[in-house]
Amino acid sequence: MKIVGKTDVGMVRDTNQDAFKILALGQGAGLALVCDGMGGAQGGDTASYIAKKVIAETIQEKYCDTMGAEAAKILVRESVLQANHAIYQTAREDAELAGMGTTVVLALLYQNHAYVAHVGDSRLYRYRDHQLTQLTRDHSYIQEMVDRGELSPDQARVHPDRNFITRAVGVQWDVEIDLHVLELEPGDRLLLCTDGLSSTCTDEQIGEVLSQNPLEESAEILVRLANQGGGHDNITVVIVES
Ligand code: CA
Repeated sequence: MKIVGKTDVGMVRDTNQDAFKILALGQGAGLALVCDGMGGAQGGDTASYIAKKVIAETIQEKYCDTMGAEAAKILVRESVLQANHAIYQTAREDAELAGMGTTVVLALLYQNHAYVAHVGDSRLYRYRDHQLTQLTRDHSYIQEMVDRGELSPDQARVHPDRNFITRAVGVQWDVEIDLHVLELEPGDRLLLCTDGLSSTCTDEQIGEVLSQNPLEESAEILVRLANQGGGHDNITVVIVES
């Protein structure tokens, strides 16, 4: 198991409100996490920072090599709920942070499985057998339009309203979390990324990069491609190889 990550402010923004975390746990297990903060000048940074910190701490504290599949699933959910609570409370205590929130996509890699938790429009892709598959569905208005057949995925990728998400961590006292359990095969690659990548690169481009390059180079090249595509947003990628 190998995990690499890279984040970049992009070509337009002054600050980077994305965050990522890579954690090695016991017996080949690990955590890959990507967050994309939102909510004003300070809020976005703060929300993604708190999410990263609380999720990593919760998982590090409660992870156990012998915990089993059900506990792994409960743990990823619990970690996001803890982050939701921490962000929501912090925002309540500081008017300048009111309304802040963050996307979260995380994978706990444990015993040949990925336990995935997801809120918002950061994504998880799997690259297997020369094929890139998006495994999370964005919680966004634009995704709902795609689901209703009103937009094609290519139109959605460049739509001006693509940033409006329907769920975020920390905005309300509770949050609905999508959970997935994936069985991993040797050689699988997982890509976690923010919309700074997925709105500037097509699935074909991403798949091509992953097929032709080692892990570190893949991360570098994807960030470079997003910047070449305008770099209008912060860009974050984490890549896992099982
Ligand atoms: Ca973003």
